[in-house]
Amino acid sequence: MSFPQTRFRRLRVNATMRRMVSEIRLSVDDLVYPMFVCPGKQVKEPIEAMANCYRFSPDLAAKEATAMAELGIPAILLFGTKEKKDAIASRASAMDSAVCQAIAKIKAKCPQLLVMTDVCLCAYTDHGHCGLIMAADAKRKRKSSPFATPAVQQYEGHIDNDSTIEVLASMALAHARAGADIVAPSDMMDGRVGLIRETLDTEGYVECGIMSYSSKFASAFYGPFRDAAQSTPSFGDRRTHQIDPACGRQGLRQMEEDIVQGADIVMVKPALPYLDVIALARHHFDVPIAAYNVSGEYMMIHAAAKAGLLDYEAAMMESLLSIKRAGADIIITYFAPEAAKVLK
Ligand SMILES: [Zn+2]
Repeated sequence: MSFPQTRFRRLRVNATMRRMVSEIRLSVDDLVYPMFVCPGKQVKEPIEAMANCYRFSPDLAAKEATAMAELGIPAILLFGTKEKKDAIASRASAMDSAVCQAIAKIKAKCPQLLVMTDVCLCAYTDHGHCGLIMAADAKRKRKSSPFATPAVQQYEGHIDNDSTIEVLASMALAHARAGADIVAPSDMMDGRVGLIRETLDTEGYVECGIMSYSSKFASAFYGPFRDAAQSTPSFGDRRTHQIDPACGRQGLRQMEEDIVQGADIVMVKPALPYLDVIALARHHFDVPIAAYNVSGEYMMIHAAAKAGLLDYEAAMMESLLSIKRAGADIIITYFAPEAAKVLK
């Protein structure tokens, strides 16, 4: 009797065999490149916390986006930075914001590239929160209310959901008017997808899609990004709206709700610490699933490679492959241009 009878190594014997039996293939078509834009002209400003990432003025953003399209990357995701900030995020919905200008310039230069835009207020509010902080008179009303209890008062100074989603809808509308193909609300307010869909439809932008950051966890891996977007909250944190890392099933419920409200694509963010949620989402839903390989995941590999601990390219490709294997159709990643070159 021969032993062992089962020999898995037969299918791993050489590169051709491994290629033939490969269960998934990473493709440049899976990648979305996040880009930061800022006001001005001819600006290309390095972001200290994020290797090889820059803030571009709209003119240079168009140039960079064209380079991404030439690499075969199908889409970019724009984030606004360095706008004038105030309590009500006025610049978020302005048609002359850096994001709106960049959308128009990119679409003029490179119409085939899909332009997605982040929709959230944290880069536009002076307090750095993702929404409007409850107004002082609303606070007073609550205090004098017969129903005021310590539990209610605890919400003072927190983000007011319903007034925030109105601002988010007008921000999304401004992006759609400027030519965005897909708006991507990342704020985690309740009901925003439905209101954005209704607003876009009422205004005639029925073809503008919604990619909802549905399962966005309150993660430590966003650190470097906050430096890029200069969106660190001046007080408190984001745990009243982002999902607790211990709650994967809540992530699923939010995806389900966002699909009902009209999301075309739902997202899990971050990616690597939440591969289980991506896999569950793939199992439960038929809409495309996006995963955001966030700044901390990106910079961990950079730092480890710099310290001589990891092979940069191998770790990058393995991370992206694992996100795809978990079930993501779309991978939003700062590695996109480098990965595109490897995949060519
Ligand atoms: Zn935000």
